[in-house]
Amino acid sequence: MALVVQKYGGTSVADAERIKHVARRVAARRRQGDDLVVVVSAMGDTTDELIALAHQVSPEPEARELDLLLSTGEVVSCTLLAMALKALGQPAVALTGAQAGIGTDRRYGRARILRVDPSRIRSHLAEGRIVVVAGFQGITEEMDITTLGRGGSDTTAVALAAALGAERCEIYTDVEGIYTADPRIEPRARKLERISYEEMLELASQGARVMHSRAVELGWAYKVPIYVASSFSDAPGTLICEGGEEMEQRNRVMGIAHDSDVGRITVRGVPDRPGIAAAIFGPLAEAGISVDTIVQNASVERLTDLTFTVSRADLKRAAALVEPVAREIGASAVLTDDHLAKVSVVGAGMQSAPGYAARMFRALYEAGINIELITTSEIRITCLIDAGRVPEAVRALHQAFELEQG
Ligand code: ADP
Ligand code: ASP
Ligand code: MG
Repeated sequence: MALVVQKYGGTSVADAERIKHVARRVAARRRQGDDLVVVVSAMGDTTDELIALAHQVSPEPEARELDLLLSTGEVVSCTLLAMALKALGQPAVALTGAQAGIGTDRRYGRARILRVDPSRIRSHLAEGRIVVVAGFQGITEEMDITTLGRGGSDTTAVALAAALGAERCEIYTDVEGIYTADPRIEPRARKLERISYEEMLELASQGARVMHSRAVELGWAYKVPIYVASSFSDAPGTLICEGGEEMEQRNRVMGIAHDSDVGRITVRGVPDRPGIAAAIFGPLAEAGISVDTIVQNASVERLTDLTFTVSRADLKRAAALVEPVAREIGASAVLTDDHLAKVSVVGAGMQSAPGYAARMFRALYEAGINIELITTSEIRITCLIDAGRVPEAVRALHQAFELEQG
């Protein structure tokens, strides 16, 4: 008998019928003999609706209250799923993140899990119950409720799987697995049988929202096999696991990711002397704004341009923090742009073979898409492009790297 952690996303529990459908699937799996911990997201668009509601009563909702409010979405779905299971005659118990022993730091809206105390879950499992846990949330040492960031229920599931030593973590969602690109943008995208943690982490952190990147990170660190499949069918899904030799020898691009959540800030005419970058990025770090890509141009006559990207939601706040610093150091202007997106090609084989960058640039050029900025990691090349051209770019790259063929 194995211990398995399952997670069902928002679309999978969007209404009462779907919750009953999930309950039937979970109960059937339980009857096969596995011990089950089931993590759920909030129903449908609940989280978006709660955020909108908060903004209707306050222009800037307090982070602590906002997290407490958002955590209720997952409490609704986990209690309903436990009730549905019991209605099927299946012993079950619903737990909030706090009751499930998930301890986090105090960073509201993007809290990190510091510790998991799985003792209560273990004792419920020992009583023969299915344990249903509210995803996306935890509790600080001061007993305040926190949330883990959008898409964070995946991270709850993998963290519980690691803490419980589960055999694997199964993520059930509204697509049949991990594809070579978002199947909603590229209908010819191919479902992968397996993908390495490393490649999945790169795809997820570049916008493939099918997995929360921190969940992949945790799975990799604790060697939890993660299986991604559909909650609406029995089609075989994708296993995220350690990259085997054959994977690396395939020497090719594994997938394409896109991310339209890009805000760009350019500081023009920055004097080229030590300490300037620290002066600009210090206040951003203090304000908790995470900076993604940073590019500094070669200086011409001791003046350079500094360009970096942040999440679009942080763009205004970031610009307001950078402007006084720019004035102080004598930079000529601060420009912002919220019409950009990133497209990335990812593959472990890229690090050892030349030509990938040229192929990517040519495909975008032939599609008439201008590249605004380029960044790379060992296994990824990312181009910043006009946000309106994302679907075309994804399809052009999918074709250029022949991802339709297995
Ligand atoms: P859930 O609510 O179950 O957590 P999400 O909406 O967070 O589901 O993630 C699933 C979505 O991720 C899919 O509907 C799909 O549009 C998107 N997606 C993006 N990239 C990929 C990819 N490479 N493979 C599969 N799905 C992807
Ligand atoms: N309900 C949260 C969100 O919408 C967490 C999740 O679905 O994973 O972001
Ligand atoms: Mg998700």
